[in-house]
Amino acid sequence: MKHNIRYAAGSDVGRRREQNEDSGYASGRLLVVADGMGGHAAGELASSAAIAVMRELDATLPETGSDLEAALEGAVHEAARRLVELAEIDPARRGMGTTVTAMLWDGYRFALAHLGDSRGYLLRDGALYQMTKDHTLVQSMVDEGRITEDQAAVHPRRSMVLRVLGSEGRAEPDMALREAEPDDRYLLCSDGLTTVLGPEVLHEVLTTVVDPAAAVQRLIDLANEGGSPDNVTVIVADVVAPGAGDVAVYRVGAGI
Ligand code: CA
Repeated sequence: MKHNIRYAAGSDVGRRREQNEDSGYASGRLLVVADGMGGHAAGELASSAAIAVMRELDATLPETGSDLEAALEGAVHEAARRLVELAEIDPARRGMGTTVTAMLWDGYRFALAHLGDSRGYLLRDGALYQMTKDHTLVQSMVDEGRITEDQAAVHPRRSMVLRVLGSEGRAEPDMALREAEPDDRYLLCSDGLTTVLGPEVLHEVLTTVVDPAAAVQRLIDLANEGGSPDNVTVIVADVVAPGAGDVAVYRVGAGI
């Protein structure tokens, strides 16, 4: 049976930054978080350029009959081309980049595209799973057995990202196609959330705060109260039966 998603999205500049370099997009079939990097406002430009391409994908993709993975991967490659163009216009933008974590939904399954250190989680049957793997130095060190997850969380180079959508034009996203189930709850977020809140806290909020908009707001508040030095962007989406009503649209905060 075809299902809908009910979602909420929010983005907050946080308490220590002056600009929000995160961008996000959420609709009834596409959820995206992008966390930009680069000086002179280039980070903001990079993440918003990636989101603009995703918005175009949502506007032009036919309702049915599309290859979700191919469509989403194609949009990531198009976003990389845009960043190259933008960097050619102004050399100060060279080296800018953005994470992209995106889910494209057809009512039955999601295609997932991922580059960088934003994250996607799935809450299913009460258990929280991290669907994405960080493209960071510390994650590669954990994979090689050189440090533990706990050491990675406090490592001085923990923010070093190895793979993003960048102005060099390379774009090699991790791609996956995942079956969705009724009552699944998905979380997409920038690292401003996960550097402060561990999986136990995410699980606690996602299992106790039923309304997606309230869950988004609660997570942002907890990140800020926890001393997040960064912008925070959060999307929460629930898979609901079509009879449960129309897709609800919530927007929290100003960055989305
Ligand atoms: Ca960030």
